[in-house]
Amino acid sequence: LKHIGVLTSGGDAPGMNAAVRAVVRCAIYHGMEVTGIHEGYTGLLEGKLESLNSRSVANIINQGGTFLKSARCREFYEPEGRARAAAQLEESGIQALVVIGGDGSFTGAVLLAREHRVSVVGIPGTIDNDIYGTDFTIGFDTAINTVQDAVDKIRDTATSHNRLFFIEVMGRDAGYIALYTGIGAGSEEILIPEQSRGMDYLLQSLERSGRKGKTSSIVIVAEGDKSGGVYELAKTVEAKMDGYQSRVTVLGHIQRGGRPTCADRVLASRLGVAAVDALRDGSSGVMVGVRNNLISLTGLEKACKERTEINAELIRVADIVSI
Ligand code: ATP
Repeated sequence: LKHIGVLTSGGDAPGMNAAVRAVVRCAIYHGMEVTGIHEGYTGLLEGKLESLNSRSVANIINQGGTFLKSARCREFYEPEGRARAAAQLEESGIQALVVIGGDGSFTGAVLLAREHRVSVVGIPGTIDNDIYGTDFTIGFDTAINTVQDAVDKIRDTATSHNRLFFIEVMGRDAGYIALYTGIGAGSEEILIPEQSRGMDYLLQSLERSGRKGKTSSIVIVAEGDKSGGVYELAKTVEAKMDGYQSRVTVLGHIQRGGRPTCADRVLASRLGVAAVDALRDGSSGVMVGVRNNLISLTGLEKACKERTEINAELIRVADIVSI
């Protein structure tokens, strides 16, 4: 293997730069050529390619986002689009592709590999931590630290008044960001899509907190929670509980930005190296991840299709420490 390409695709995540840097440097370490593809699959189709050396990726490990930029590409959903992408790779002499992104990007990569025998390896980059085959995705640790900081600040104002705060956090269909930050920031309740306990349970829990002398409460709500949306929830609870004013904060895109944490930079560096190692070993159609702190390979198709199980032990901990 002499020449690989690397791209970032789908939603950006802090730590993607560190992953690109590791891919580039590991490839160069082994004497390979590396091409950076700007703007994901769109840039591949448009020929937005740049030859990268180890200096091209200097001073990016500390930056959020992705210097290669990311994009969503409609044409890649169609076989013709993928055929053009394969032709572009061949024309440029790129023999294998590292795709850093989420499950959508991996689905595209699987099809490209299957239809055109392109070697592909995926690196999980998304703040949602919702990808099967890895304990953590790149960006998750930074996102939960950002959320935790924000919730700490909201707590200061919540405790100064008798207020009930509902804070919506990202995570798509997964409750990982909510569960981790609910524990880390000490929220009273955590609402996640994996476990719907219903309105009565929430009201009882908040009333119990009130009886125990808590004068303010914070409820973390995952964006994928099925209780009807955070504003509706706040309205219903306020109507049913005496003496509390409820407030809603939707944290939004601040959760995707910022300097990556050390944990994310280390994870991204490990996975970048692992991706190049996998290609050199002749693997294709796999995703590199970490499981129990060891590098692990999972079929890309499986990584896209299988659901991750939310950790029951974490739910138990959250229940116990919030009494
Ligand atoms: P995130 O989880 O952060 O949104 P993602 O990789 O899942 O990341 P998507 O927007 O779903 O983000 O996918 C990124 C790109 O991958 C799409 O714009 C498209 O080009 C390609 N892609 C996604 N799904 C498919 C599919 N089913 N077939 C072919 N290509 C796909």
